[in-house]
Amino acid sequence: MFSVAIDGPAGAGKSTIAKAAAKELELIYVDTGAMYRTIGLACLDDGISPEDSKAVIEKLKSIVLELKYVDGEQRMILCGKDVSDDIRTERVSMTASVVSKIPEVRAFLLEQQRGFARSDNIIMDGRDIGTVVLPDAQVKIFLTASAESRAKRRTLQLEEKGIGADYDAILEDIRKRDYQDSHREIAPLKAAPDAVIVDTTELTLEGSIEAVIDTIRKGMSGK
Ligand code: C5P
Repeated sequence: MFSVAIDGPAGAGKSTIAKAAAKELELIYVDTGAMYRTIGLACLDDGISPEDSKAVIEKLKSIVLELKYVDGEQRMILCGKDVSDDIRTERVSMTASVVSKIPEVRAFLLEQQRGFARSDNIIMDGRDIGTVVLPDAQVKIFLTASAESRAKRRTLQLEEKGIGADYDAILEDIRKRDYQDSHREIAPLKAAPDAVIVDTTELTLEGSIEAVIDTIRKGMSGK
């Protein structure tokens, strides 16, 4: 099996870029952030504070999480219900970032994530894919961009969807999540020593996709 690990901070374009690369290279795309988000949503739905580790761990016992592919798109199924759209709010983002610090939450998802790599050729994105989940991935990419450019892109994205967006609030959220994700004790966000760093601050989306596909192709041909 062939695996590509893509890690990087929130808003670097990982999922858009990984999706496009997966399509071009005929790989299955696995978005692990969506899995953390789904656990975050399950806690919010039950009124569980993400800071209350004990309650979150207890909640895991009743969580059944599945990934389904509909027309090539990954859908998140929580206890039989499709929650793929509900997990995309800022509130769920922050909750996911807090629950992802809990070792039991990471352990809960780890085996499922490794299972995908055993059964398919995949591109998996997240924060710890190259370092923890798939340390033997044939290609590892660390995709990054300045916090300001990530906030700018996110603001535009929301505006395009007709959702009011406040650049300063988004920038603050991004900085907070970067801090939380890179300073946690377990599986912090960091580039694997053998990852190729792709900085998209100065690149267009097309340029970023091209850079990532190029890197993967080189890895596929063993260069
Ligand atoms: O990538 P996305 O923004 O959807 O991820 C949501 C949150 O899930 C991140 O802020 C991060 O805290 C957590 N996460 C993680 N490990 C991963 C993927 C996501 O801790 N592999």
